Amino acid sequence: MTKRPEEIALMAQSGKLLAEVFGHLDRLNLIGMSTMQVNDLVDSFIVNDLNARPASKGQYDYAYALNASRNNVVCHGVPATHELLQSGDIVNFDITLEKNGYIADSSKTYLVGEVSPPAKRLVQVTYEAMWNGIKAVRPGARLGDVGHAIERHARRNGYSVVREYCGHGIGREMHEEPQVLHWGKPRTGLLLREGMVFTIEPMLNQGRHSVRTEEDGWTVVTCDGQLSAQFEHTVAVTQNGVRVLTLRPEEQALN
Ligand code: MN
Repeated sequence: MTKRPEEIALMAQSGKLLAEVFGHLDRLNLIGMSTMQVNDLVDSFIVNDLNARPASKGQYDYAYALNASRNNVVCHGVPATHELLQSGDIVNFDITLEKNGYIADSSKTYLVGEVSPPAKRLVQVTYEAMWNGIKAVRPGARLGDVGHAIERHARRNGYSVVREYCGHGIGREMHEEPQVLHWGKPRTGLLLREGMVFTIEPMLNQGRHSVRTEEDGWTVVTCDGQLSAQFEHTVAVTQNGVRVLTLRPEEQALN
């Protein structure tokens, strides 16, 4: 669970490459693209341009470089050639990248074309909730402080937090200890110490928090059919606070 400085340096390299993948995605016009086309572009960029490996491929018998979770899909959406992105959609791309044996994990919800104000607001508040969680990370804080910061921001804005899926430790394996819940009570849970590395990846729903898995065994959707959004970063606990290993260039001012 706790990483040595040289391991964190390697994870930061993986994280920097993963940030480049999102930079590549940012430049695409998603309207009319299928989620499979996006997957194939990301796969090729990771392998051929970054000389790295999409870590989700082959893990848990999953065949793709990303999850594409659109509108009412909460997480684990599977890319499909028949799923065309249209103006008005919100879509999360969740991507893991391995380089030199270490994995970074990050996701971002994109606005496709002209998106309604309520959908935009959900995406913005979800992003803020993730950052509130990140800013609660420091040595001596507890995981409950992180979850509380996220849940409080969601509730204040009228949204619910998905409870079935959480952040996780990460390193040589995609999923390591601990589990990082996106809700909780202050001053409860695991005590954070320098060198811990984990993801923070809240999913916020417009409506109720309940979710169900579709028949493909992967796709998780909201039970009430309303929208869900998600953002994710991989973070390390530093001597004084937190370092976001998957930080994107446009986020430098936030860290
Ligand atoms: Mn993750």
